Amino acid sequence: MRQPLVIANWKMHGKSAFNEALVTEFLALLKAYRAECALCPPSVYIEQVAGLLRSSNVMLGAQDCSHIAEGAYTGEVSAEMLRDCGCGWVIVGHSERRQYHQESDALLAAKLAMAQRADLKPVLCVGETQEQREAGEAEQVVKTQLQGALGDLSDFRRLAIAYEPVWAIGTGLTASPEQAQAMHAFIREVVRELDARSAESLRLLYGGSVKPGNAAELFAQADIDGALVGGASLDPEAFAAIVSAA
Ligand code: PEP
Repeated sequence: MRQPLVIANWKMHGKSAFNEALVTEFLALLKAYRAECALCPPSVYIEQVAGLLRSSNVMLGAQDCSHIAEGAYTGEVSAEMLRDCGCGWVIVGHSERRQYHQESDALLAAKLAMAQRADLKPVLCVGETQEQREAGEAEQVVKTQLQGALGDLSDFRRLAIAYEPVWAIGTGLTASPEQAQAMHAFIREVVRELDARSAESLRLLYGGSVKPGNAAELFAQADIDGALVGGASLDPEAFAAIVSAA
C-alpha cells in the first residue's frame, strides 16, 4: 500500500507575512489525514517555513537544486544546502524549468544524483505539451523524459514522479481521471523496465490544476498516489481539502 503524497509548489509566490498566515491557517485546518505532505516555498523562505512547520508532521521541500555539489556558481543552491536547511524533498525538472531554463534530461539526471547524495527525496516532473498530445506523441515524450533522467539512477526507493501535462498546469484544464490514470500506468511500466523492484512502491503524483473539486476523483485512480499542487496550494482551505482527500 503506497502512502499518498501531496506536495505544494508555491512557485515564485509569497512574502514573509503571507507565508506565515498561509502556513498557520493551513495547519489549523488540517485535521485527520493520512497523506505525507510537503510544502515547497521559494528558497529564500525555506528557513522561515521550516520554523513555521516545526511542531507539525508537514515536511519541507525545495523547488529546484543545482546539478553541482559546490563552487563558483553564482545564484545556485546546492542539494546539500537544502538538506542543511531542513528540506526533505526537492522538485526536479518542473516544466517551467524545462521551458524557461532549457533544462535537459541529462541535466536533470545530474540533479537527481545530487539530491540522492544529499539525502533529499526528489520528485521528478514529466509531461507532454498540448501539441505533443494532439500529435499522439504523449507517451513517447514521457518515456524519453523518464529514460533520459532516470537511466543512471542507482536508487529508485526515495524517488517520486509527478505526471504534469504542460497543458494542464495553471490553465484550469485538468486531465480527465481516465487520461491521468492511463499515463500513470504507462509511467509505472516504464519504471518497471528501469528498476523492476521499485515500480510497485514508487509514488506517482498527478499535477495540473488539481483543486478540491477534482482531487478525490483523481486520487481514486489505481496508479495516482497523490498530487503536486501549484495554484491551489496558496489557498489554505483549498490545500487542506486536497491533502484530506488524498
Ligand atoms: C505545478 O506548478 O506543478 C502545478 C501543477 O500547478 P497548478 O496546480 O497551478 O496547475
